[in-house]
Amino acid sequence: MSNIAHIEAIPVQAPAKEDDLDGSVDTLVVRITDEDGRCGIGECDAPPEVVKAFIDMPTAHLWSRNIAELLVGRDPLELTGLWETMYEATSYPGRRGLGIHAISAIDIALHDLAGRQIGKPAYKLMGGARRPFLTPYATIFPGMPRGRSITEILDVTEQQFQKAMNIGFHAVKMEVLYEDLVTDAQLVDCIRQGRRMLGDAMTMMVDFGYRWHSWHDAKWVLDRIEDCNIYFAEAAIQHDDLHGHSRLSRQTSIRVCGAEHAATRWEIREWIETGKVAVVQPDINRCGGLTEIRRISDMANLYGVLVIPHGWKTGITAACGRHFQASTINAPWFEFLSPDLYDSPLRRELVSPEPTITNGRMALPDAPGLGVELNDAALAKFRRD
Ligand code: MG
Repeated sequence: MSNIAHIEAIPVQAPAKEDDLDGSVDTLVVRITDEDGRCGIGECDAPPEVVKAFIDMPTAHLWSRNIAELLVGRDPLELTGLWETMYEATSYPGRRGLGIHAISAIDIALHDLAGRQIGKPAYKLMGGARRPFLTPYATIFPGMPRGRSITEILDVTEQQFQKAMNIGFHAVKMEVLYEDLVTDAQLVDCIRQGRRMLGDAMTMMVDFGYRWHSWHDAKWVLDRIEDCNIYFAEAAIQHDDLHGHSRLSRQTSIRVCGAEHAATRWEIREWIETGKVAVVQPDINRCGGLTEIRRISDMANLYGVLVIPHGWKTGITAACGRHFQASTINAPWFEFLSPDLYDSPLRRELVSPEPTITNGRMALPDAPGLGVELNDAALAKFRRD
């Protein structure tokens, strides 16, 4: 046993594309070192300096404590106990949002470190394998319109679909964040074109990027693509409109899903009980880490709800998706941001190695911890502190 010796929160930033929507443009890397010098890494998808400030804040009182004071000297294998300690001791400023994003990054780093200490992959700390292989899905995001025509955007989408199929994916999500470039009727046509590009054998999901403020408008489009065999309809209406999600879910045969911004099982329970969604999509690096998504997926399973995590960050989050799906029965897919499909310096360079995909499948991870190594040269290049 080697206890926690040191915690670092390192803001990292790559050059941003103008007016785009790329969650992988920055990250907060958390690195936790044990008394023997072994390291575990984690990250979260929130403004890096703000989360760093949360992690580094000095203790004010019993419900607003400094994280390092809580963790240094503790055994990293006590994953759930440490999670509860952090949650309770930051409950005054935390409990949701940034406080949970901070705990997410730390919890991921603890899984990496604990796995390295015992020489086992992180999914074995999450209950072990529940499936023989992994099934990632690829998100195809051609970028925001930025003055392009819909024809130009669909051309990029088609090229990316082809590339995803060549890489070996069997499931693809079409991002249709076209804003007012298309009417709802034209959007229906775009999605039907997308299905024709992919052929009938591919699993196809659609992300609407919060297009509508009315569930009825969303229903109008979903009704007209019901014969396209769409696996799920993501972010059709506003994230906080859970009653709208409930109404929409009752009115369509397509699985309605969301919750990519949700934190903890407490918020996900509202998505399930009030929102009546078929699939929840918490991000492991935002919902509370690997400890919390384990609890979320166990809870969702009681309701017959699937958990297909969001993931648009670096290879650290991509690795988390693999360990989560490996150890989860009600996770038929996980979002896998492929560095070959989306041009992101941090996704490409920050950690390695990358898994291979064959016939839609990845092997279960076998290296200790998360199974990825921080690239020191990339960290030096992109760190902002
Ligand atoms: Mg999304």
